[in-house]
Amino acid sequence: MSQRQLFVTTALPYANGNFHIGHIMEYIQADIWVRFQRMQGHQVDFVGADDTHGAPIMIAAEKAGITPQQFVANIAAGRKPYLDGFHIQFDNWHSTDAPENHELARQIYRDLRDIPESQGGSLIERRTIDQFFDPEKNMFLPDRFIKGECPKCHAHDQYGDNCEVCGAVYAPTDLINPFSALSGAKPELKSSEHFFFKLSDPRCVEFLEKWTQDGKLQPEVANKVKEWFTVRTNPDGTTSEGLGDWDISRDAPYFGIEIPDAPGKYFYVWLDAPVGYLASLKNLLDKRGENYDAYMANDKLEQYHFIGKDIVTFHTLFWPAMLHFSGRKTPNNVFVHGFLTVNNGEKMSKSRGTGLDPLKYLSLGMNPEWLRYYLATKLNNKNEDVDFNAEDFMLRVNSDLIGKFVNIASRAAGFLTKRFEGKLTQSFGDQGTALLNDIHAAKDNIAQAYDAREYGKAAREIMLLADKVNSYVDQHKPWDLAKDTANNEALHQVCSLLINAFAELSRYLAPVLPALAQAVETFTGTSMQNPRWRRNRSRHQHRRLCQGGFAHCRNRQLRSGGRLHQTVAPHAGCGRRQNAQCVQRRGQHVQARRPQRQADGDGGQLGPAQDEVWCV
Ligand SMILES: [Zn+2]
Repeated sequence: MSQRQLFVTTALPYANGNFHIGHIMEYIQADIWVRFQRMQGHQVDFVGADDTHGAPIMIAAEKAGITPQQFVANIAAGRKPYLDGFHIQFDNWHSTDAPENHELARQIYRDLRDIPESQGGSLIERRTIDQFFDPEKNMFLPDRFIKGECPKCHAHDQYGDNCEVCGAVYAPTDLINPFSALSGAKPELKSSEHFFFKLSDPRCVEFLEKWTQDGKLQPEVANKVKEWFTVRTNPDGTTSEGLGDWDISRDAPYFGIEIPDAPGKYFYVWLDAPVGYLASLKNLLDKRGENYDAYMANDKLEQYHFIGKDIVTFHTLFWPAMLHFSGRKTPNNVFVHGFLTVNNGEKMSKSRGTGLDPLKYLSLGMNPEWLRYYLATKLNNKNEDVDFNAEDFMLRVNSDLIGKFVNIASRAAGFLTKRFEGKLTQSFGDQGTALLNDIHAAKDNIAQAYDAREYGKAAREIMLLADKVNSYVDQHKPWDLAKDTANNEALHQVCSLLINAFAELSRYLAPVLPALAQAVETFTGTSMQNPRWRRNRSRHQHRRLCQGGFAHCRNRQLRSGGRLHQTVAPHAGCGRRQNAQCVQRRGQHVQARRPQRQADGDGGQLGPAQDEVWCV
């Protein structure tokens, strides 16, 4: 396969609050895919940004007594601990209020507005509409900021766009006794000129029918989108045929991007939000000294957006149409995921205490890779909800990661360190060699599963291989072999095989468990970045294990429930491996000896090897 050039994004989070676990799930989903593609030798640029504009942020900033710019800067400042904490490696994180986005959004708008008559003419239209206006706040009210009595079921205190009691959809003007949620004042109807993107134009309809139904979208997504071409629910509850035009403007005061040649008019936040993908990419390329236009002009460039199911309309209708008719490249695909629920399908709720706060998870010392792995086992390429269940989570981590996977190394590392100076033999016997070949033969299936975002399938395949390795251990019983020095050669073979098998499985798990893979890489001297997972046999031979390093890290981490150590450069003082956590704690590498414990594979419990060096 030739090298692919990929541009990958996740949906831009609205900058009115910290990340919640749903964001983290999406970022993990995309991060796994990106890491996998890079391991295959492909070139990937993976970017995100804060979605900063719109009335809710303007109003929240006003309440906080700061400017919207300050407000979103404060939110942006809190992003890093989440991303670093869960090993989510964006190449760039930017903002939709950045100059690149102002410039790109305005240019895309101009290109849509100025389509010459010879090509069908402008796709932007001005229309005067009536809207509720708050006479005290002196501003037009977004639907969400108008409340009143539901015209259908007469429930009180309902929003201007739909009733949360009976589910009716209506226009704000249908509400009985409407009031402004901002001031409590009775809103007045006032007319104003708005700008519309003519999505109902036959050019748009024809293009979008093709773009959404050519087989690239997930089938369930394509089917949903198809409905929108035939039936549309209007704000007043009636239905119309076909796509409706899209109101892309808002009146001042509004925190957003001013529309060219229309003072006091701003782009509706959803117009400039997806442009933020391009703005973040442009910002990244500028930093690298690369040319944005040349980058986008590469016809081999593939563009993918990971998004949640709630924003499909924007990404399958508005966004591709905006790009196409402004003469730009359209996305190759949009990957839609469901919501993260808890305890068998409940919606997460702060008030019911059923949320899962990402930073709290980290602050409890929970390993971020456990969550990455757990979510990976549940993710597939369908637009389905993913359920988090604490009990299931513990079971999965204990059974797969600790019981099946880490156990392989722990059963071998102690003997190798103690008895064979950490050296591996190159001969594994017929059975061992066959087992390694089996593991290697699974690589295409696993790669296909990752590429298709079928991470649950990939994890199942990898754990089946781990099962095979563990049966091999049970059959050859290294702890029995170790009792008699006459079995030294057999013991050496078995343990060497296990370390090799463990390194192979680590490589398969590397997109999901990047920090662990890094630790294994340091420990065994194998490269996890090996393109296409080719096994380099010569490097497996004559390898010397890092003395005491890996088993030590695993043990501490598992016993304390703490996070994985990040391996870094050798310690300047003693030349041994050190890790961020040790350094952070004591400022230096301290050696200490632990009393001997049996490292004999006693049902999955890890025990440190004799003479192991501990940093404390
Ligand atoms: Zn109602």
